[in-house]
Amino acid sequence: MIKEKYSQKTIFSCEVFPPKRNDDIYEIYKTLDEIKLLKPDFISVTYGAGGSNSKKTATIAAYIQNICEVEALAHMTAVGMTEESLNSILFELKKKGVYNVLALRGDKPKTMTDEEFEQRTYRYASDLIPEIRKNGEMFVAGACYPEVHPESSNWEEDIKYLKNKVDIGLDSLITQMFFDNSVFYNFMDKIRKAGIEVPVHAGIMPITAANQLGTSVKLSGSSVPNELSSIIAKYGHDPDDMKKAGIDYAIAQVNDLIKNGVDGIHVYTMNKADTTMAIYEGTFA
Ligand code: FAD
Repeated sequence: MIKEKYSQKTIFSCEVFPPKRNDDIYEIYKTLDEIKLLKPDFISVTYGAGGSNSKKTATIAAYIQNICEVEALAHMTAVGMTEESLNSILFELKKKGVYNVLALRGDKPKTMTDEEFEQRTYRYASDLIPEIRKNGEMFVAGACYPEVHPESSNWEEDIKYLKNKVDIGLDSLITQMFFDNSVFYNFMDKIRKAGIEVPVHAGIMPITAANQLGTSVKLSGSSVPNELSSIIAKYGHDPDDMKKAGIDYAIAQVNDLIKNGVDGIHVYTMNKADTTMAIYEGTFA
């Protein structure tokens, strides 16, 4: 279990997502075969509510756990989940030897109506946690937002619900991506003062193409520091230079976080082994 990985040192983990097309499953296995050489402390796999893609999460998590021999963290969302599907996913994961889950609320998938979203069985990530805990010993992580969750009206409210989520049974937290470390340090200050003591993994998204930044920011609501905007302005027109500059930016971010004693670094790999390996080389190696 991931629990055993924590020590004085910053731990290193990555995130992959299941491919949309069934045929592409071997592509992600190839990526994982490369990433596993870095001996990450864990690799997480995202979950999409609805559709056949949700089933791939357990399949890929099993590959990570049993073939790559790396701890797998399977994401699961309250959105689209019923009591039956929750228990069946947990049964499947445990059968495959996966005992680590990331409990999330999830966002409304495009295929879901507003009514279906509103009438979901489990409203928040915090509603999933006790249900997961009923299924025997599991490592349970949750998400957090250094720039406030987009639906929260203020910090106080967001931290109150985050603390509640941790108190009812989270072992660790993984942050939304952020590009400005001072934002993360302020957040850590706030949550530690609020009595949230579990390890926090800093989510790092390498921006390796100019058009990727807009999409990432739209999805996450993360702010973009001037330094990163200048990099895009300077290198955005040249894919190779942009990729190198984006990796260098992520390396500088990670090294600063390690220097400041962060519990964990969680790289959003976008299923790209070469980028992940370059970041690892410039930081942990
Ligand atoms: P919650 O903790 O439930 O919080 C959601 C909002 O509700 C917040 O504003 C919170 O303050 C508020 N809130 C919480 N509890 C209560 C309460 N009791 N009453 C009133 N308000 C409350 N999405 C996916 O679909 N699949 C994935 O695999 C996935 N992986 C992710 C991984 C990470 C590391 C992160 C940071 C996000 C991920 N997401 C994923 C996105 C996530 O599902 C969304 O950001 C979602 O909007 C919030 O999820 P949460 O678990 O943080 O929600």
